[in-house]
Amino acid sequence: MKLLLIEDEAKAAGYLRRGFGECGFSVDVASDGETGLDWALAESPDLIILDVLLPRRDGWSVLAELRRAGRTTPVLILSARDAVADRVKGLALGADDYLIKPFAFAELLARVRNLLRRAEAPGAGRDAGDGELAVEDLRLDRIRHKATRAGQALDLTPKEFALLALLAERAGEVLSRTVIAEAVWDINFECSTNVIDVHVRRLRAKMDDPFPRRLLHTVRGFGYVLEARE
Ligand code: CA
Repeated sequence: MKLLLIEDEAKAAGYLRRGFGECGFSVDVASDGETGLDWALAESPDLIILDVLLPRRDGWSVLAELRRAGRTTPVLILSARDAVADRVKGLALGADDYLIKPFAFAELLARVRNLLRRAEAPGAGRDAGDGELAVEDLRLDRIRHKATRAGQALDLTPKEFALLALLAERAGEVLSRTVIAEAVWDINFECSTNVIDVHVRRLRAKMDDPFPRRLLHTVRGFGYVLEARE
């Protein structure tokens, strides 16, 4: 997921870039409104986090131009102002959410995820088709909730199956614990939780340990990836 952060305060921008980076997002930072608008139009980010008081072009104007150009990219406004009039103005201009500074990173993260989920919902076609996923000799039938490896049935709990299906759907992509927690447990865990690790260990014991080739790999300090390696 690609975020565009339009924020002129370097310290805040650095902090947010790091925080989102640790949770698996890629973040571009534009430090003035004009550059931010250019990038928003040229790069089509998945979501824009927009400060209001910016050099060269303020956040209101960035948002108005973006919507005038027909872009529906979700926009979350960050503002030091908490006047109701400002909030109403932001929403009237087409902002999707509004957060007052100072805020807790966890709240911003939750709101960003929420907006992304909302934006994704109408499409939701990635799982269409016959519901079968294949990675090497691993097969997952998402309709019947059955998994096999090298033709042998794997006896997985529903959570283990959901975890494996997520990793298989995004095979080759490193998924952070936060992304996994959110997708499989559907709640906002702290980024460092060992619930995921425990489930991964149990899953591995069933789908990797009995077989000669490992598919589920740990990427230290980040998360997990399912892929065939040489
Ligand atoms: Ca500012």
